[in-house]
Amino acid sequence: MDLIPFFETAIAALNKSKSAELGDRTQYIGSSDVGSCARKVYLQKQDPSEPDFNTMMRFSRGHVAEILLDNMFTAAGVKHLYDTQVEVVHPDHPLKAHIDFLFYADFDGKPQLHVIEVKSVSTIPDEPYSTWIDQLNFQLGLLRLKYPVGKLGGSILAIDLNAGAVHQFNGFDYNETLFNYLCNRGLNMLECLAGTEEPSTSTSFLCSYCSYRPDCPAMALPEVELPPEIEAMANKFIELNDIRYEADRRMRGIREGLLEFTGPIFKGRSETIDLVVSSVAPSMIVDSKLLKKQYPDVYPEVLKERAGYTKLECKSNCC
Ligand code: SF4
Repeated sequence: MDLIPFFETAIAALNKSKSAELGDRTQYIGSSDVGSCARKVYLQKQDPSEPDFNTMMRFSRGHVAEILLDNMFTAAGVKHLYDTQVEVVHPDHPLKAHIDFLFYADFDGKPQLHVIEVKSVSTIPDEPYSTWIDQLNFQLGLLRLKYPVGKLGGSILAIDLNAGAVHQFNGFDYNETLFNYLCNRGLNMLECLAGTEEPSTSTSFLCSYCSYRPDCPAMALPEVELPPEIEAMANKFIELNDIRYEADRRMRGIREGLLEFTGPIFKGRSETIDLVVSSVAPSMIVDSKLLKKQYPDVYPEVLKERAGYTKLECKSNCC
């Protein structure tokens, strides 16, 4: 039974059925669009293309996280408090959002609206990304238009399924100024789609995953002719970097497997291997963000210069 070719078809079918739940995305601006790069949104809607296998697998990871949460909430007996994939629509414009989880009451039964935006990640960031915050604020704004009174808030739940870690970025409220700004961004994107405005670029960490990057003006580099040996060296560098990346990824999985066997403390010698696992005690470090916030006068006095270094970026542009 050869599963991989089957997976490629199956993941495309799953992705299609999940996208169908969101309606025809070329006809409206959604909450994940408003905080994104206008050029990317414009191109995605002008000429929608099927994402590649890896991207579809990443999308599915998000769906898996949502299903897991739904199962957990159901098992905990709070299924009656929320709905999933709730559509909220702007009354005057084709601007809409699909809310992952909308709670109508707190766990103690007190009525309130609470939006949960679920993000499946490979590493939980220290702070939520600005695109996540924009997405949540847009959802809160559309909800506020629908429910002008009552308690309304939201949170972003970042889930790292591999590490079994979860973090709630909580305490988001409706912010009228930000919502108006996001609506204006959405309206601008609609004008771009109508051909009356030029879509602008906004670079972010998401550019790494953008399929419109190769000819993006924000990423344009001056044309140069490299000597063949330098070109070959650069290609070798890319090849080795890919091998290192793949090795790191596989080593993380193997490390987890080994630690599952050994636990946090272990010493042993087999015929071929010395295996030692020890624990490094937690230690304290200075929280520089907190220091800057709470002691703004002291902060500049404890800064010291960090030596600069040469950064080499070498990526293939042939795909
Ligand atoms: S590469 Fe970045 S700036 Fe360019 S279109 Fe994609 S998201 Fe926008």
